[in-house]
Amino acid sequence: MRKQKSDPISDVVIVGGGAVGSATAYLLSKEGISVTLILGSTFGKTASWFAAGLLSPLSQTVHNQDTLTSLSSQGFNLHQTLAPELLEITGLDYQARRQDSIYLSKTKEGTAKLETLMSLSKQIKGISGHWLDQNDLRSLDPRIKSASPTSLLIEGTWILDSHGYTNALMQGARRKGARIVNGSVTGITKSGASFQIMVGGNCINTEKLVLSMGPWTNLAKEWLNIAIPVSPLKGQILRIELSGPTLVYSVHNGNDYVTSKPNGLVWAGTTEEDVGFSDNPTTQGRKSIISNVSPFFPAISTGTVKSHTACLRPVTPDGLPILGKTSKSDGIYIATGAGRKGILLSPSMATIICQLISDAKPSVNLCSFSPDRFI
Ligand SMILES: Cc1cc2nc3c(=O)[nH]c(=O)nc-3n(C[C@H](O)[C@H](O)[C@H](O)COP(=O)(O)OP(=O)(O)OC[C@H]3O[C@@H](n4cnc5c(N)ncnc54)[C@H](O)[C@@H]3O)c2cc1C
Repeated sequence: MRKQKSDPISDVVIVGGGAVGSATAYLLSKEGISVTLILGSTFGKTASWFAAGLLSPLSQTVHNQDTLTSLSSQGFNLHQTLAPELLEITGLDYQARRQDSIYLSKTKEGTAKLETLMSLSKQIKGISGHWLDQNDLRSLDPRIKSASPTSLLIEGTWILDSHGYTNALMQGARRKGARIVNGSVTGITKSGASFQIMVGGNCINTEKLVLSMGPWTNLAKEWLNIAIPVSPLKGQILRIELSGPTLVYSVHNGNDYVTSKPNGLVWAGTTEEDVGFSDNPTTQGRKSIISNVSPFFPAISTGTVKSHTACLRPVTPDGLPILGKTSKSDGIYIATGAGRKGILLSPSMATIICQLISDAKPSVNLCSFSPDRFI
């Protein structure tokens, strides 16, 4: 494999500069592999920049939680080494830190789900679960209300600033020698083993192509006749100024959550809207967040909304990421479809792509994530 700067043609071209593509560019460049990262025209405006940044390897909403556990726990562990490493390389502090999580349940099924989370928490290094009754919950924060007698505290979960994180990955890749291209790919062709990637009138050649365009990754169908069934699922978040003591937990109630950031703002989310690529914040979204969060965190309705964001999750038909090589064409690596967990999963998805590119054995069994499962 060619090393950096020995050849203007990159060994690997990564299309898509969100958290997944930027993490892949960073890890490959760190290995001394020459990389071109093509950011895309929506760079800086996608989910990787506006996500809540919750790093919990557990989830009340992800289907197939069991299948995802190995990838989630690897991502969770990698984040803890990545933050100090990127700080040293780039000088950028994206405020990655421990913030424990409380999971509430609204229904009987919700309580069964908490039991699953409790048992999964025992398999994951670095976190521990504790049951809370109503008194325990009140003593942690009297503003949190639960509809059921039992809640779950998970100690050891983390949070970060997604905007800072994605920027640090991209800057880290640049520092390690990656070529960063501003612009969008308009077409890709293949002749022999080589791909020709069209960006802003230029053509970039490579034999190894990573597709990490988040919800836009199915453009590969048009370019390479490879269907990647990923689609956008819009989510909105409110950033709210609240008087009173700082909220020190991330509180989850099914799809909904409140968490806090170091600047004191409380973030409340979220929505799940199947509205194509429309990504504007709406009054309806704002009302729905307030009305869904109020029952378990009534103080939210007394706050002042300082900003309101919306962005698109890349989701797949079975709720699992699409990660690995496709048998349809040599040299193509796909990393997308991380849904509600793409910030958490970005370092593990990037690690897997690096392992595949270096012909190493993947550290996670990829059967359930294979792009071929949709062929
Ligand atoms: C409201 C909300 C809250 C969330 N909160 C969390 C959370 O707390 N924790 C968590 O782990 N996850 C969270 N997520 C999920 C997470 O944000 C996403 O899964 C993740 O950001 C997806 O990253 P990505 O790199 O795959 O895609 P994206 O961030 O969408 O990046 C795709 C990139 O591809 C580029 N691109 C597109 N088309 C082209 C083209 N033609 N040529 C070149 N480039 C192109 C785009 O410009 C962009 O740079 C949240 C999502 C939402 C919507």
